[in-house]
Amino acid sequence: MRRYELLQSIVPVLTDEFIICNLGFPSQELYSIRDSDHNFYMLGSMGLSSSIGLGLSMEIDNTVISIDGDGSVLMNLGTLPSIALEDSKNFILFIVDNGSYGSTGDQATQTAKGTSLAAIAKASGIASSVEVPGEQAAETLAKCIKTPGPHVIVAKVEPGSPKLTPIPMTSLAIRDRFREAVKQAKAQA
Ligand SMILES: [Mg+2]
Repeated sequence: MRRYELLQSIVPVLTDEFIICNLGFPSQELYSIRDSDHNFYMLGSMGLSSSIGLGLSMEIDNTVISIDGDGSVLMNLGTLPSIALEDSKNFILFIVDNGSYGSTGDQATQTAKGTSLAAIAKASGIASSVEVPGEQAAETLAKCIKTPGPHVIVAKVEPGSPKLTPIPMTSLAIRDRFREAVKQAKAQA
């Protein structure tokens, strides 16, 4: 299973969650599988998906899921103690761990050589931190959506991506559509 199939497998468990998706191929893949005004596709700011998602989760009642990568989380490890300390109950960090920098040519990351992001998350104070095979990730995510977090799920998959085209939306269009959806969710709360 690669990230694309993993993302396909988790889409059926999603309802009204807000998704912050890591830049590059992950965003292109999520867009092609299930575009939604609840998806924020990052076009830059590598490493900050979890930081954006954590901040958003502190402002709204909906569950917020940051879909991040192993390479990006390794760039911003300080995010893990921040998630623990803010203790945001409706936040889930979903790490697609393919042991590679997938958007730049599949160079190996430290997780391909033994580093455990779930163990680092746990040591940072996030009690609900698990590593699961990609095939079990949707079931784990469904459980986490139903229980107070914060949660960190590390889904182990193979490297590799299908060839996709860039998202045909401008950064401003992505921002404005997402902002409107957040506004509506806040108004309904
Ligand atoms: Mg990766």
